[in-house]
Amino acid sequence: MTSGYVIVHEMLRREFGTAVGRPCVVSGCTSLADGWGLVGEATNYGEKNDGTAVRWSTDLRDYAPLCFSHNAQLDGGGDLLMCPRGHVRITWGKDATNSECVGCRRERLREYKRRRRADPEYRARENARDRAQKAKRRAQTTAQTSAATKGRQATNREGQS
Ligand SMILES: [Zn+2]
Ligand SMILES: [Zn+2]
Repeated sequence: MTSGYVIVHEMLRREFGTAVGRPCVVSGCTSLADGWGLVGEATNYGEKNDGTAVRWSTDLRDYAPLCFSHNAQLDGGGDLLMCPRGHVRITWGKDATNSECVGCRRERLREYKRRRRADPEYRARENARDRAQKAKRRAQTTAQTSAATKGRQATNREGQS
């Protein structure tokens, strides 16, 4: 089944020609568009033929030329001002490679760490590593202390002779 997203993008190209190479409509953006992007309200949510989650509108007037980065921001949800989770885009900024909201990335990593800490197997591994490190440090300290003691004894003997 051809996704509605693909159909509407075919209609856009038939109706208005390609958007590729036109200036991105976002104010202040100097990049060239890589296609038609949804700037109005989405009327449909679904998948592209390859299974990527997308949203689209069946109203062709909801589209404008957008560069790759702005297209990615809008396709992922949210709007140009805020990401889907409410981070103000201009404040948080975005990842240089995949345009992910930096605020979202931070939350994602924090959540990942939290989930790992909650995992008993992971905690057991962490604890074992901690114990091993402590044992190693203790062994090192002991070695250093005995070396220092030997050094002192040697000095004492020299002093006596
Ligand atoms: Zn742009
Ligand atoms: Zn965000």
